[in-house]
Amino acid sequence: MIEKQTDIIIVGSGPGGATVARELARSNAGLAVTLLERGRDWRQHPLYGTYPGAMLYADRASFLFTQEGLNIIRPLLLGGATSMYCGCAERPLPWWQTRYGIDLSKEAEETLAELGIAPLPATLRGVASTRIAAAAADLGMDWQPQDKFMTPQQSHNGFDCGAKCMLGCRCGAKWNAAAYVDEAVQHGIDLWTGAKVDEVVWANGRVQGVTGVVGGQPFRLWGRAVVLAAGGIGTPLILQRSGLSRAGQGMTMDTTVMVYGQAPVKGIGQEPPMTWSCADDELGVLYSTLIDPWLNYPLVMLQKGPAFALTWPRWGHTYGVMIKLKDEISGAVVAQKQGFTISKGLTADDRQRLAKAEAVAGRILRQVGCDPDTIITTPLRGTHPSGTVRLGEMLDQNLQTEIAGLYVCDAAVFPEALARPTVLTIIALAKRLARHLQEIGD
Ligand SMILES: Cc1cc2nc3c(=O)[nH]c(=O)nc-3n(C[C@H](O)[C@H](O)[C@H](O)COP(=O)(O)OP(=O)(O)OC[C@H]3O[C@@H](n4cnc5c(N)ncnc54)[C@H](O)[C@@H]3O)c2cc1C
Repeated sequence: MIEKQTDIIIVGSGPGGATVARELARSNAGLAVTLLERGRDWRQHPLYGTYPGAMLYADRASFLFTQEGLNIIRPLLLGGATSMYCGCAERPLPWWQTRYGIDLSKEAEETLAELGIAPLPATLRGVASTRIAAAAADLGMDWQPQDKFMTPQQSHNGFDCGAKCMLGCRCGAKWNAAAYVDEAVQHGIDLWTGAKVDEVVWANGRVQGVTGVVGGQPFRLWGRAVVLAAGGIGTPLILQRSGLSRAGQGMTMDTTVMVYGQAPVKGIGQEPPMTWSCADDELGVLYSTLIDPWLNYPLVMLQKGPAFALTWPRWGHTYGVMIKLKDEISGAVVAQKQGFTISKGLTADDRQRLAKAEAVAGRILRQVGCDPDTIITTPLRGTHPSGTVRLGEMLDQNLQTEIAGLYVCDAAVFPEALARPTVLTIIALAKRLARHLQEIGD
């Protein structure tokens, strides 16, 4: 048994955990911080950003499904899901303040400036993607260039971004939470990769540490505070195993489909993902420009039926409108003796709203010039597993659980679905929590 004493234990190195670690490390609070990440650092590996790579570092080789058949990509590596995200940024929605009394504007603006978040220049937004935004404008919609965690001038050998960017960024333009971990390590935090946390140890209502396994060896870490940032699936599983059985009951997913159509001209597959977006908050959906990477296309379509997989040759001419739905809280993440199960269906209201959004997407694709007979909707998928340890229900305003010193800081804390890119909101929440931890550490 490996044993160690520290001040603050952080579990998970996605945007939540990485940001708390970096902020604490850069402060002068003098706190000893240990960051535990179950995955490894793949960034320098030759397979990083390739199809085999994505199978190696995503949970269940990228074939993780809910009981209802929704595919969830769950990256398990340093940087968490930012290793495979589309690099989109969206400011925290006003309801964090109006409904939950949490003002994240300062932290978000600070991050926007620090990371140079902005839309890609017009010349890099993609000709075909821009055609979708123009077609939507013809129909009276207001699509806007999407803010990006991308700095094209930082690319190693030229900006080379397409749908494959979702496998992992190989050109270096996309910000990844692992960069914050690097900074935290430079400032002295202790990083353990390959360290999977099983349970939180607590007694008399106060946290004491965590247990887990690293390199096949059990470990026990003692600390004054524990921050769970293992993601919308990982965090409720740890809490359930630690005796907090309400965790994981109900979740949000920003359930997503893509509506595809084939046009006579080149499609959007070689262009950066999600360069233009449009939110309809009355309907509770976000539209954006996106299609699946080349090899994922037939696999995704196979779920719908063999005939759909056979549309693969159209990929190069495919235009896609992604729809993210603000889904209602439902379903559950449940720890099993071996592994876990996820159930997440759509409510009747979710289905009605999704059908309306699909009709809108179809109109846009016809306006682009897609053959109406080729317009199809992909199977449902779960892109943002979240809302499993909700603020206001299991967490107070400081993201603390009923156990003193035990905090959660990741997508699990969302009190309702965002139907927006999540990362900037998670970073802002993490900066706010780091400030709180410094204050109580002083
Ligand atoms: C394909 C794809 C595209 C996306 N595109 C965007 C986008 O453009 N913009 C955007 O804002 N969002 C996007 N998202 C969503 C976004 O990336 C996630 O919502 C976000 O990264 C969640 O952050 P997190 O801190 O909650 O957890 P994660 O990023 O999931 O990180 C959790 C970390 O915890 C580790 N972990 C899990 N369990 C344990 C354990 N027991 N012990 C130790 N470590 C553990 C995991 O390995 C992982 O590294 C996308 C997601 C995907 C999959």
